[in-house]
Amino acid sequence: MAQLFKNVRHGEAARSGVVVIGLGRFGAAIAKELERCGVEVLAIDNDEASVQKVAPHLTHVVRGDGTSEEVLRQLSVPEFSTAVVAIGSNLAASILTASVLLKIGGIEVWAKASSPEQGQILTQMGIEHVFYPESDMGRRAAHVVSQSFLDYIELGYGFALVATLAPKDLVGQTLGETALRRAEGITVVAVRDPNGSWETAHSETFVTEGDTVLVVGPADKLDRWRVR
Ligand code: ATP
Repeated sequence: MAQLFKNVRHGEAARSGVVVIGLGRFGAAIAKELERCGVEVLAIDNDEASVQKVAPHLTHVVRGDGTSEEVLRQLSVPEFSTAVVAIGSNLAASILTASVLLKIGGIEVWAKASSPEQGQILTQMGIEHVFYPESDMGRRAAHVVSQSFLDYIELGYGFALVATLAPKDLVGQTLGETALRRAEGITVVAVRDPNGSWETAHSETFVTEGDTVLVVGPADKLDRWRVR
């Protein structure tokens, strides 16, 4: 398998591509989406059933132990620019895999944490990018459910991006006529009509009942912005 993959890499000088280690729901989703976007992906899992499950959807999937430096070197992992450690519930395997990748060096490492403690350990080890998919998704769902937003994405630094049906205070006027940005610091960036076509918003954009709006603003302001 390692030889097979080496043939695919063609001995490129510049590092590129992403190694995904751990093919549970999170790892498999990342690997498939990266490949869909045209990124070269090497997916690794030490469990045969997990490998078989994703094999029909990915070009390069191998069975291997991410905690073994020897295995990762055999699989040409040092030739990749980026690695994602998508092992959550097996804390020891997650930490060991991350530490082996750090030891190999020169690879940008991202890691999934299933708990704040796991995230703290990974961060203290020097992993700069730590995902918290379960808690992030839980917070996102809370905003969608409580505010009737269609979607809610935290952007960091206290800002969020929200998709919602146009609230009454926007309907029947142009965006330039509303006080939303002036009064609340909330900016409408795009508007979609009921037929589904999105248009970039500008001051002359007229909002009609049934439109969907995409807005950006301070998360606390968006939470107080009643949309029903
Ligand atoms: P998800 O929520 O994404 O489904 P999880 O956090 O519940 O994942 P884990 O038990 O962390 O699941 O495992 C994710 C994947 O990582 C599994 O397919 C598992 O076989 C794989 N895995 C665990 N340890 C290793 C290891 N040492 N090397 C490679 N893969 C591993």
